[in-house]
Amino acid sequence: MNNMTSKPYVGRFAPSPSGPLHFGSLIAALGSYLQAKSQQGTWLVRIEDIDPPREVPGAADAILRTLESHGLLWDGELVYQSNRLDTYQTQIDRWIASGDAYYCQCTRKQIKESGGFYAGTCRDLALSQDGTAVRLKVDEPVLAFQDVLHGNTPIPEQLAREDFIIRRRDGLFAYNLAVVMDDISEGITEVVRGADLIEPTGRQIFLYRKLGATPVSYLHLPLATGEDGGKLSKQNHAPAIDNRLAGDNLCQAMHFLGLTPDAGLAHASPAEILAWGVENWSLSTIPKNTSIIAPF
Ligand SMILES: [Zn+2]
Repeated sequence: MNNMTSKPYVGRFAPSPSGPLHFGSLIAALGSYLQAKSQQGTWLVRIEDIDPPREVPGAADAILRTLESHGLLWDGELVYQSNRLDTYQTQIDRWIASGDAYYCQCTRKQIKESGGFYAGTCRDLALSQDGTAVRLKVDEPVLAFQDVLHGNTPIPEQLAREDFIIRRRDGLFAYNLAVVMDDISEGITEVVRGADLIEPTGRQIFLYRKLGATPVSYLHLPLATGEDGGKLSKQNHAPAIDNRLAGDNLCQAMHFLGLTPDAGLAHASPAEILAWGVENWSLSTIPKNTSIIAPF
């Protein structure tokens, strides 16, 4: 790693409680943990519970129990995004007042009909708040970024240039805003996550600049998919991780990330398996694919 800054490494895993942990999210948890611990870093966990309609009661606790049973013990206090809603709203109010953000009444259908991208329709309409979304003006779009694993990574131009939503019509805060404000507030230095989040990275870097902060470094791991190539997710009923098989699960996730533990290691304790992982972790052996079919 470079010596440009001597800032200690702070990484994180930030699941949303829309269901129990599945293999895809275990990979993100493990990859971010190993990347942090191999640099003597701190590894934080944040529960991204800002979308109540998609949340499953008890899922946050189930996720935390699964992390614990796999030896993935976080440093510091847990953060729940639901405790930070006032902070997000205060920032939105500031941007509305300064003219950096504005209310938008376009429906999903209207945007779809105009080619799938929002064309700035409401930018200068000075709409009031009722039943509208809030969009941030994108004056200097982020068209590419340096990914630790993938190098220079372009963002599709129409996506990069779009004034994007920071608060939805239903009043819920947008993922991009919450995640960036929280990563800044927690002093995160690098984000390690699945490659499905490559495209939002441009917007997130734009948010860092808008908030006067230095963007984190980004490392996007290959995404575990089903046989059909679709993302493993709670929505498509990916199987929950079985906490009784922690050793097997960790070794399977390590193989997915390019490590080659012996078959026997699966019988060791999670702490021993993770210690082996930290010792052997290497960016050079992580597959550069953005998706890989899960091994089951
Ligand atoms: Zn609009």
